[in-house]
Formats: sequence, structure tokens, C-alpha cells
Amino acid sequence: MKFPNKPKKSLGQNFLIDQNIIQKIIAIGNIKNNKTVLEIGSGYGHLTKKIANLKPKKIYAIEKDKNLAYLLKNDLTESKNIEIINDDIFNFFKRKILKKDVIVFGNLPYNISTKVLTYLVMLEIWPPWYDNLILMFQKEVADRIITTNKSKTFGRLSVLCNWRLEIKKHFDVSENCFFPKPKVKSTVLSFKPKKNYLYKIKNPKNLENVTRILFSNRRKMINKNFIKLFGHKQNYAKDLNVNLNKRPEDLNCETFYKIAMKYEKLFD
Ligand code: SAH
Repeated sequence: MKFPNKPKKSLGQNFLIDQNIIQKIIAIGNIKNNKTVLEIGSGYGHLTKKIANLKPKKIYAIEKDKNLAYLLKNDLTESKNIEIINDDIFNFFKRKILKKDVIVFGNLPYNISTKVLTYLVMLEIWPPWYDNLILMFQKEVADRIITTNKSKTFGRLSVLCNWRLEIKKHFDVSENCFFPKPKVKSTVLSFKPKKNYLYKIKNPKNLENVTRILFSNRRKMINKNFIKLFGHKQNYAKDLNVNLNKRPEDLNCETFYKIAMKYEKLFD
């Protein structure tokens, strides 16, 4: 593998170099020829080329770095089925309407990984346009996503993601599998949309709001923040069976969903 350009820290460029890990990531996608693949941050195309060999219906490879997008265009002859797009993924999301059956891969730059994930779980239309998200995170971030029980790593991200995604941890990835080597270990997770999720919050913004406010002082009891949401109406806490003397990390996910539904009913 050659790396003609100096890796850009600002774009979170840590390229996968371990063939075994690359294969294992791609296998999770179970790519069939009726599927569309979206790759976020294709870099030199180490994953893209392997995905292309499996001949999905269409590949969109989005790369923000102009030079890398250009190199990959020369390297992987573009066809009707492969589009290499030099853009920021969030612009692409704004511009492009994706239809059904998309598999998303992303060895994501660490600085945008949680933003991408929150964007994808908060989509208004559900079930969404994707079938499966296969994403690499810093191990510490992955741990926060998968923890749903009382603990220091339990937080907002986990509440949001578990709301309507089925989350699976696949494996950890050592620093040595990348060039340049990142400072920390990584983890591959996948996410499938739950078709029938229990807690029908109509506007995901309400869940974002509720979790942002309730988690704003992790170390403190939630009573003050609960008042911020509902005013001095103690009976709402009773109705919802919420103990206001607890810290946010002591509540379970379901409690946050119930609070968000109540909040939506009252204020939307
Ligand atoms: N998938 C490749 C590259 C991983 S590094 C591999 O595994 O080898 C992450 C890549 O995401 C880099 O190429 C970086 O330039 C690109 N990137 C960073 N921010 C981006 C953004 N906002 N939108 C699209 N691509 C981005």
C-alpha cells in the first residue's frame, strides 16, 4: 500500500492497512447485488475496492479530501455503478435523497463519528433508507454507545442510539491495523434499524432535548433539570415513576423514552 500524500490530522486520516480486518468489516455487510453501498470517507479506497469486487448495485464513495478523491477516481475506473464524490458527508446527506436498501460503511474520522451516528438515528422518516450501518469508532466511544446499564459510561449517546437501532459489537481493532497509528484502540459496531420500536416519539428532537437537559449535570440529581423540562409539576414525575433524587446515569433508557413522550405530548 502506498500513501503518497501526507496524512491530514484535521480530517482524521487513519487508513486501514490490515487485510484481515478489512475483509472482516466487509463480510459484516453481507453485500448482495441488489444493494447500494455508501462509504463515508473512502480515503485511498482500501475498503472501496474490496466492496467493488462484490458488485453491489451501486457504490457512493464520499471523500472530503480533494486529492484523495482524485486519486481514487484514477485508480478505480468510475462506472455507472461507482461514484466517487468529493464532498463533505453532511453536504451529501443534504443534497442526495437515498432510497431503500443502503448499506453504510465508515471507518469514520474520529471527530465526526458521533455526529454521523446521531444524524442517522434521528432521521425523520422511519424505517430509514439504510439497512445496516457498519462503523468504526474509538473504543472508548463504542463503549459509551453499547452501555445501557448504570455506569459511568452510560450516557446520552447510548439512549439515543438504542431508541431505534439494534446495536451489535463485532470486534476491537488494534492501533497497528492503521497508518498512521492512532493513539487508541478502535471498535467496529453495526446498527440495524428496529422496524417496530416501542416508544413512538414523533419528533426525535424531543428526545434530543430531553436527554441533553437531563444529562447536563451528570453528577447531580435530576430534580432541577426535570423542573427545567416540566416546570414545578411534581405529579409528572410520579406519573412517569421517575425518582427525582437520582442521577441521570441511574435511570434506564426506557425512562428517558417515556419522559420524552410525555414532554412531546405536553409541549409540541
Ligand atoms: N476508509 C479509508 C479511510 C479512513 S480515514 C480507510 O479505511 O483506509 C477517514 C477518511 O474520511 C479520510 O480519507 C478523510 O479524508 C475522510 N473524511 C474526513 N472528514 C470527512 C467528511 N466530513 N466527509 C467525508 N469524508 C471525510
